[in-house]
Amino acid sequence: GGQRGIPFNQPESLTKVFAVASGKGGVGKSSVTVNLACAMAAQGLRVGIVDADVYGFSVPALMGITQSPTRVDDMILPPVAYGVKVISIGMFVTGNQPVAWRGPMLHRALEQFLTDVYFGDLDALFLDLPPGTGDIAISVAQLLPKAEILVVTTPQAAAADVAERAGAIATQTGQKVAGVIENMSYLEMPDGGRMELFGSGGGAVLAERLTATVGAEVPLLGQIPLDIQLREGGDTGVPIVIGQPGTPAAAALSGIAGRL
Ligand code: ADP
Repeated sequence: GGQRGIPFNQPESLTKVFAVASGKGGVGKSSVTVNLACAMAAQGLRVGIVDADVYGFSVPALMGITQSPTRVDDMILPPVAYGVKVISIGMFVTGNQPVAWRGPMLHRALEQFLTDVYFGDLDALFLDLPPGTGDIAISVAQLLPKAEILVVTTPQAAAADVAERAGAIATQTGQKVAGVIENMSYLEMPDGGRMELFGSGGGAVLAERLTATVGAEVPLLGQIPLDIQLREGGDTGVPIVIGQPGTPAAAALSGIAGRL
């Protein structure tokens, strides 16, 4: 359920739901999701994550979660890390088995996460979607029509092209696009200069194009630099906004969290 027991999918629910999407894998969608959630929790908000990236679930590892959800009667209690309640498909498969579920099963799993998992009252719920415009994006639109889409992209023009398709699905489903987040924007050099490894401008171009496509202002919410400590934080299960809050990457992520 959502606020005061009101389910997340009800119009009266005060929980802000963000579906984090990307055009392709590897752009940092899960890392961004986890850090935004942890930053919000650190700011005192009640936050949950549904890891719906069924083929590439990585949220538990990124947050150092090894425990399984506990069952109380019909309810599933999600593990908590850094104040964030987390549920993932990865918690329901044994070992590292590949998940090869078809659309209807994915829909059922997501539905069950939203009904049977006890999140309590939340201020924000993040859904980490699989890359692309698959069945899950449609399921989210059906199950949580209020969910706003956050699109993660890299500065590369080609990445913006695929990300645009992921964002444009909102026009078909009538969902709001909350904004674009550009990740891996640049690498800060020891001399203070910025090396733009993946080009530049992709986030701004995507925000502009989505604004035109959905017919409403889609802002570029922020640019996150490349940072070895962000990757290390993911590998060790301590998100950079928690472990290294003073870094420019953590500051960028916390800044975006504050704007949501
Ligand atoms: P996705 O969810 O889009 O597949 P991930 O969040 O799993 O992407 O990120 C892919 C890899 O890139 C991970 O190893 C992650 O640590 C790394 N990564 C993501 N963003 C950054 C960044 N800004 N700086 C350095 N490494 C990053």
